[in-house]
Amino acid sequence: MGLQTEQLHDRALGAYLGLAVGDALGATVEFMLPREIKYQYGVHKDIIGGGWLKLKAGRVTDDTEMSLALGRALLSCGGWNANAVADEFVVWLKSRPIDIGNTCRRGIQRYMLNGSLSGPVSDGDGGNGAAMRIFPLVLATLNDDAAFRQQMLEQAHLTHNHPLSDAATLALGEMTRVLLKGGGVKECREVVKALLVEYPRFKFTPYPGRASGYIVDTMQTVLHHFFITDSLESFLVDTVNCGEDADTTGAIAGMLAGALYGAEAIPRRWLARLDTGVQAEIREQVNGLLQLPAY
Ligand code: MN
Ligand code: MN
Repeated sequence: MGLQTEQLHDRALGAYLGLAVGDALGATVEFMLPREIKYQYGVHKDIIGGGWLKLKAGRVTDDTEMSLALGRALLSCGGWNANAVADEFVVWLKSRPIDIGNTCRRGIQRYMLNGSLSGPVSDGDGGNGAAMRIFPLVLATLNDDAAFRQQMLEQAHLTHNHPLSDAATLALGEMTRVLLKGGGVKECREVVKALLVEYPRFKFTPYPGRASGYIVDTMQTVLHHFFITDSLESFLVDTVNCGEDADTTGAIAGMLAGALYGAEAIPRRWLARLDTGVQAEIREQVNGLLQLPAY
């Protein structure tokens, strides 16, 4: 591998594994408030399972599972095919997942009922479910701006059709792309600046302190910590200790952190705990997605 390919591979693997460790780390404290976390754990910083889902340590949830389902569809079709992605989501739904968001469930059931690939624009679709699972598609469209934009939105609309979800999905995808291509915090700041001009709702300074599944709260928590931390570990730990939708803020933070700091920056103690089947499929998908014709 050339130096550039090596860096891309390290950042891509870092982003995907980061997503999974953030999910597994955050799931323990999902739906808790920061003061409850502090009382119970001091600072929550190890993958220990438990939480409201009573997870085995290292088990991931819907955030990672839906990403893997999306990746499977991309790999089996050699690229984007909305029906194939929806079909993989159906397979996943039928596998009786340990956790699934209401909006995701509704969207997948709508597809099962009438085959439609998008619901109408809906106020109820402002959750973070479309934004949490984007990574495989970011990787598959890395070198094609138009395909990136269009496919990201089609992917989102399978379950979520809401302008703020769309904006967040594109912005997180763009930040991740920029990082995979070797950019850093400075380039991400430009992406976020453009987002805030168009959608001031996402303004995160001063940090409002909410980390719910509402996409605005999720984005504010992730972006705030992205810009004030200086390592993968501190970014993820500080993010999930905000509680609420901690597995999803953790997953999104993990994706950005891994894309910025690389797979080497993921603490060994987290990788040692992360479900080995999930790790193997992530490694396989990264290799496969980097070999799609777009490269
Ligand atoms: Mn989850
Ligand atoms: Mn969640």
